[in-house]
Amino acid sequence: MITELARLDVRDLGGVYAARQLGRTLAACLDLEPQDQIRVATAVSEISRSAVTVGRGAVLAFGIDDFDLLLTAMFDGAPPDEGVAAASRLMDKVVTDGKVVRMTKWRPPGVLLDLPSVKGQLAAVLPQSATDELRRQNQDLISALDDLKRQRERLLALNSELQETNRGVMALYSELSEELEQTNRGVVALYAELDEKSERLRVASESKDRFWANVSHELRTPLNSIIGLTKLLADPAADGGLDAERLYQVDLIKNSGTVLLTLVNDLLDVAKAESGQLHIDPARVNLHALFGRLSALVRPMAEGKPVTIVVSADGAPDTILTDEVALTSILRNLLSNAIKYTDRGEVRLSARVSGPSLVITVSDTGIGIPAGLHSHVFEEFYQVPGIRRGGTGLGLPYASRLARILGGNLELTSEPGSGTTVVLDLPHGTPAVGTILVADDDASFRQVLMGMLAPLADRLIEAEDGGQALVLVAQNTVDLVLADMRMTGLDGVALLARLPASVSAIIVTGADVPAPPRAAALLRKDELTPDRLEFTIRGVLREVRGAAR
Ligand code: ADP
Repeated sequence: MITELARLDVRDLGGVYAARQLGRTLAACLDLEPQDQIRVATAVSEISRSAVTVGRGAVLAFGIDDFDLLLTAMFDGAPPDEGVAAASRLMDKVVTDGKVVRMTKWRPPGVLLDLPSVKGQLAAVLPQSATDELRRQNQDLISALDDLKRQRERLLALNSELQETNRGVMALYSELSEELEQTNRGVVALYAELDEKSERLRVASESKDRFWANVSHELRTPLNSIIGLTKLLADPAADGGLDAERLYQVDLIKNSGTVLLTLVNDLLDVAKAESGQLHIDPARVNLHALFGRLSALVRPMAEGKPVTIVVSADGAPDTILTDEVALTSILRNLLSNAIKYTDRGEVRLSARVSGPSLVITVSDTGIGIPAGLHSHVFEEFYQVPGIRRGGTGLGLPYASRLARILGGNLELTSEPGSGTTVVLDLPHGTPAVGTILVADDDASFRQVLMGMLAPLADRLIEAEDGGQALVLVAQNTVDLVLADMRMTGLDGVALLARLPASVSAIIVTGADVPAPPRAAALLRKDELTPDRLEFTIRGVLREVRGAAR
C-alpha cells in the first residue's frame, strides 16, 4: 500500500530546489545511507530541473510503501529524456508510463516510521528559499568531496601496502632463487668433482695394471736368465765343477729365482685379467680329459704327505662350453691351495650339473681358514697370518676373477681344523631365448648369423637397418637384439640408444671399435663362431636374469 507523504508542483527553479529538499528529507527520515540520500535528492532535482529548463512543469508526489521510497513525477508533456536518464542512474528502478515517471529506491529494512512526524518534517521543508537550498547543495557537494578524498586516501594506502607486499614477495623470491641457484651450483660442482674423482680412479687403476704388466715382463727375462745360469753352474758335468758349499749356495739362488718367477707370472696374470686383455676362446671342453690332466699335474705336489688326491669326473657332463685355459687355471689354483694347506686326509675335486650350472667343488681336510677371513683371502696379496706356505696371495683373487670372466662365480666355505671347500659355479647348457632380432645391412652376413642363431632361438626376425629394427621391436616381443655397429640410416649405436630397457642388445661388428655403453656385449665378425656366439648370449642372458632375480 502506497502512502503519499507530500506533493509539490514544480514550475521554476525555486520549485526544483524545494523538490530536492523534500527528496533528501524523506530519504533521511527513512534512514537511507548519506550517499543514497544525496542520490534521491539529486534524482528529484534533475528530473524536475530538466523539465523546467524546457518550459514544462511537473507535479511530484513523495510517498512510501512497506519496502520502498516512491517518487512519482507527472509531467504536463513528455517526460524530459535527460532527467529520466539521470534519475535512472541514481534510483533503483525508474519506469516511464506515458507522462508519468515512477522512481523507486529500496528502503533499509526494519526502520520504524512515525508517519505523522515524517509528514511534519516534510511540511517544514516545503517553503524553503533558494539560498537555503543552495547552501544545502554546497554542503552535499563538500561531503561528497570529503567522501571522495577519504576513498582516495584509502586507495593510496592500499596501493602502498600492495607495493610493499610486492616488494616483500620479490625479495623473498629473489632470495629463494638465489638459494636455489647456489644449491644448483653446489650440486653441479659436486658432480664435476665426482666425475673427476672417478676418472682419476679409473686412470690410476689403469696405470697400476699397466705398471704391473710392464714390470712383470721386464722382470721375467732376467729372472729366466738367472735360473738358467744357476742350472748351468750346478751341472756336475760342467768344467771344474763346484764344491758342495758352492753348489748349495747356487741351489739357494735357483730356488729364490723360481719363487720370484712365480710371483712375477702371477702378477702378470692378474694384471691381464684386470685390464680385460685376457683372450677368452670359448669352445666345447672335454671335462674328463681336462680333469685327467689336472690330476697328473697336481699329484706330485702331495708327494711325501699322507694326503689322498681324488679327481672325479663322475656326474660331470662330457663337455662344457667355456675357455679351457681359464678353467684349467682356476682349478689348478684351487687344487694346489688345497694340497698346500692340507697335511693329512684328502683333497677332492668333483663336478655335477645343477640347473643351468656346472658346479665344480674342490674340498680338503686341511687347516681351514678362520671365519672372519673368508672374504679377505680373495683380496690381492692377502695371506692368512701365521701360516705362510709360500705363494703370493694372488691365486684366489685371480681364480675368482677368471670365474667371473667365464660368467661364473667362486665361493669359499671353511672351518679351521676341519678343512676348506671352494665351489666354482659355471654357466652350462644351451640358453633358451625367445625371439632374437638381427639388424644388419649386409644380407649375406645376416644369413650367416641367422644360421648360427637358429638352434638358440624360438623365433628369428631380421631388419635391414636400425629404423626397421625399431619398428619390428615395437610390433613384436623381442628378447634380444644383435645389431651391426655401422648401418646405413639408423646405426647400431643410435638403435641401441632407442631400444626399450627390457631388450638386451649385443653389437656384432667388423670394425675395431669399443662397445657402446648400452651394449651388453660386443662380438667381432671375424672371430665369430657358433660357440662364441652361444657363450656370449648365455652370458648376457645370465646377467639379465640374475639382475631380475
Ligand atoms: P697363496 O698364493 O698364498 O696360496 P691365495 O690367494 O691362493 O694365495 O690364497 C690366499 C690365502 O688364503 C692363502 O695364503 C692361505 O692363507 C688361504 N688359503 C687359500 N686356500 C686355502 C685352503 N684350501 N686351506 C687353507 N687356507 C687357504
